[in-house]
Formats: sequence, C-alpha cells, structure tokens
Amino acid sequence: MNRVLGKVALITGGANGIGRSAALLLAAEGAKIVITDLDEARGQAVVAEIKQAGGEAIFLQQDVTEEDGWIHVVAEAKKTFGKLNIVVNNAGIGFDGTAEDTTLVAWKKMISVNLDSVFLGTKHGILGIKGEEGGSIINISSIEGIIADPDLAAYNASKGGVRIFSKSAALHCAKSGYKIRVNSIHPGFIWTPMVENHLAKFPDGKERRAAIDAAHPIGHMGEPEDIANGILYLASDESKFVTGSELVIDGGYTAQ
Ligand code: NAP
Repeated sequence: MNRVLGKVALITGGANGIGRSAALLLAAEGAKIVITDLDEARGQAVVAEIKQAGGEAIFLQQDVTEEDGWIHVVAEAKKTFGKLNIVVNNAGIGFDGTAEDTTLVAWKKMISVNLDSVFLGTKHGILGIKGEEGGSIINISSIEGIIADPDLAAYNASKGGVRIFSKSAALHCAKSGYKIRVNSIHPGFIWTPMVENHLAKFPDGKERRAAIDAAHPIGHMGEPEDIANGILYLASDESKFVTGSELVIDGGYTAQ
C-alpha cells in the first residue's frame, strides 16, 4: 500500500486495457489520477471505479497526437491536484502491414499516434513535472520495439522510436539536473481490447490466440496487471536509480 502516496499521475489511454489497469493500481497505491483518452464513457467509468474504492481521479478527453491538447491536460492536472509527478504515455494503436504494402497514410497514422504522442507527452511531461519534487515518465513501447515482425513494419518503427527516444529524454533530464526519470516498458502480448479486437477479425482467431500463447516461453500471453505492476515500480521511488532503461515484461518472448 501507498507506494506512490501523494503523487499525481497522468495516464493516456487510461480508459481501456493496460492504461486502465495502471490507473486502478496507482490509485490503490495512493496516487491521484488524471485519466485521458478518446473514449469518454469508458474513461469516466474508470474514474467512478477509482472513486468507489476511495481514490481520487478525473477524466479529460484527449487526442494524444495534438500538442494543444497536451498543454491543456497538463495545465488541468496541475490546476486540479496542484502538481504533476508521473506521466504514463500509454495510448497507442496497432495494425498489420509489411514494408512493401503499408501505405504512407497508414504509416503516418501509426507514427503519429504511437510516436509523436510519446514525444509530446514526454516534452510536456518534463515541462509540467520540472521542479522541487520531480517525477517519472514511463513510455509504453513493446517487444516490437526490440525485435521485428515482417507484418508490423510501421508498428515496429513506432515502438523502436519510443525506445530510443526515451533514452535521449532520460539523458537530457539527468544531465540538466532535473529530478525526472524516463524509461520505456516493453510488454509481450497482453490480453486487452487491442489484441482481442484484432483476433476477432479472423475466423481462426482461437487458433491464432493459441499460437500467440505458445510463442511466450512461459506458456501464455500476459494480463494488463503484469504491465501495471511494472508501471507502478517505475512510478514509485523504489526505482529512483533507474533511468534510460527498458523494462521487458514478456514471459520470455525476447529471450529466445
Ligand atoms: P487498448 O486496449 O486498445 O487501449 C488503448 C487506449 O488508447 C484505448 O482506450 C484507445 O481509445 C486509446 N487511444 C487510441 N488512440 C488514441 C489517441 N489518438 N488519443 C488518445 N487515446 C487514444 O490497448 P492496450 O493493449 O492496452 O495498449 C496500450 C499500450 O500498450 C499501447 O501503446 C500498445 O501499443 C502497447 N502494447 C500493447 C500490447 C498488447 O499486447 N496489448 C503489447 C505491447 C505493447 P479508443 O478505444 O477509443 O481508440
């Protein structure tokens, strides 16, 4: 209990999947939560869940690709809770496409939602967190930011970008003397609406799920809580010496 007591955390894509799980866990551990997402109904439902459990949270609708929106949500977080300590750049999308068949439009969409957003969230996160207390910026990459898949050209590019950009930002903050740590997290396949909706498109979705499970040496894909626990560690002061690192949580997927 209370591993992030009194800290204020902004979590993008907090209405569903990994972001929702992180919001619930950080709130249970004492943080005040700002959930942002496109999905207002589900975002408000997560806020209600947190409040029912005795926590504090607000929802702000945000498209993470827009810089004006970032300026607004950081200002609102500070206005509501008096400060900002943690930004979890989690919102993202995923779709298939090889280097040969991906259109420029699809490529730009992926880079905008998965990488421009992390740049903006890190930049405005630094500006919002900078000060006495400092804090932690956590960028959700993927195993696909470390190893490649022939069918995930744009996704690989976006998540690889998140990985190395996070290290650059970590060095900048450390060398500037800011008390802000920046790290990336690299989940294996996690059972969330993103994966569920993707598999639902295929008539052999069940077989595909079994194949994905088997690709993880531990024998199954992960749950949102597995990633939320990593986010909690990087958000808390237990990780005070950790910056510019990449936390792999993948059931052994990339160890092979
Ligand atoms: P998810 O269940 O689809 O949740 C993502 C949330 O982000 C959704 O609520 C979505 O809203 C929101 N979102 C999408 N585009 C947005 C935008 N432009 N602005 C604001 N919010 C936006 O996905 P997830 O599986 O939890 O994934 C979370 C992160 O983990 C992503 O960055 C993903 O790439 C990464 N990741 C996931 C897995 C996995 O296997 N699940 C593995 C590795 C990494 P809408 O539903 O309204 O679109």
